[in-house]
Amino acid sequence: PVLRVAIMGLGSYGTRVAEAMRDCKMAKLTGVISGTPSKVKDWQSKYGIPEKNCYNYENFDNIKNNPDIDAVYVITPNGLHKDQVIRVAKAGKHAICEKPMAINAAEGQEMVDACKKANVKLLVGYRMHFEPKTLEIIRMRKAGEFGKVLFFQGLSGFTIGDPRQWRLNKKLAGGGAMMDIGIYSINGARYMVGEEPVWVTAQETKTNPEKFKEGVDETIQFQLGFPSGAVASCLSTYTMNNLDRFFLNGEKGFAEMQPSTGYGPIKGRTHAGELTHPHVTHQTVQMDEMAGIILQGKQPVVPVDGEEGLKDLKIIDAIFLAVKSGKKVDLKL
Ligand code: NAD
Repeated sequence: PVLRVAIMGLGSYGTRVAEAMRDCKMAKLTGVISGTPSKVKDWQSKYGIPEKNCYNYENFDNIKNNPDIDAVYVITPNGLHKDQVIRVAKAGKHAICEKPMAINAAEGQEMVDACKKANVKLLVGYRMHFEPKTLEIIRMRKAGEFGKVLFFQGLSGFTIGDPRQWRLNKKLAGGGAMMDIGIYSINGARYMVGEEPVWVTAQETKTNPEKFKEGVDETIQFQLGFPSGAVASCLSTYTMNNLDRFFLNGEKGFAEMQPSTGYGPIKGRTHAGELTHPHVTHQTVQMDEMAGIILQGKQPVVPVDGEEGLKDLKIIDAIFLAVKSGKKVDLKL
């Protein structure tokens, strides 16, 4: 069986996913949803998509009558994900949604509930959950090869350009660097340490309040505490170039990755030596694995479902609250 996917939002990441899907064995691009007719034409000829599988943002509810589409992959600005995923669920199609799943936990919960009610799956585009070097470190941690895990450091950032882009618009982005890139350190802290955090502290700094307006974070440092006593210290920023590093320390060993979440190749080593797993195109593996999850009920090593997306949103809410209050915020995930 092959998962037949329509992509919603034919922007830069949607294009990357479509190109990667050319090499998928279990997933196939069969439809598009876009507000730009010229892009639709272009994608139709590039990927052989028939007219009847093309939709726009007004009429895509009709996808419910289309037997050639099993799932819709929502790859639009963050602030649009919630309503779009709920419409996809109501059309009876599985939803794959880009990260961040929504712009706060309340919205995320609505999405989880809507998909449950419609009896469709909701998955979040966490491509690192299928990346071989990442999975090897997780395997080593589970096997006790690092000993008791004590500390994680995640550094996630890049320098953002054009001040007019949606990523710097509070309504469409839901925030700034944290929603976009800081979320990799949040999610990474969870899968590297292998626990859910129970408290958060956070501090925000801004070098350019003109560019990074109210509610759009430029740089946030945050700390997470885990039930075992392990701690994480992380940095999320839109002002430092190519910041992409994970470090995990335990009583008996360590792992470090740099780059840790970019499109690859990911590079990493542990106390036992260099990680040599071959580079894979993240989105190709992700879509094949997601097809297995949706069509065959496969269980990924690290979850990629709506509940997983929701946990990151709860942590982001807590980080923003900790920044505002200057206080430690307790978490129950
Ligand atoms: P982009 O700006 O390149 O593309 C966004 C697309 O949405 C465009 O085609 C745009 O036309 C369309 N769109 C529809 N309605 C819109 C509206 N009202 N305003 C603006 N654009 C609208 O952005 P992108 O980089 O492709 O990011 C899209 C999503 O993918 C985001 O949620 C982002 O976080 C996520 N993303 C994930 C990864 C990853 O590695 N998993 C990488 C990049 C982006």
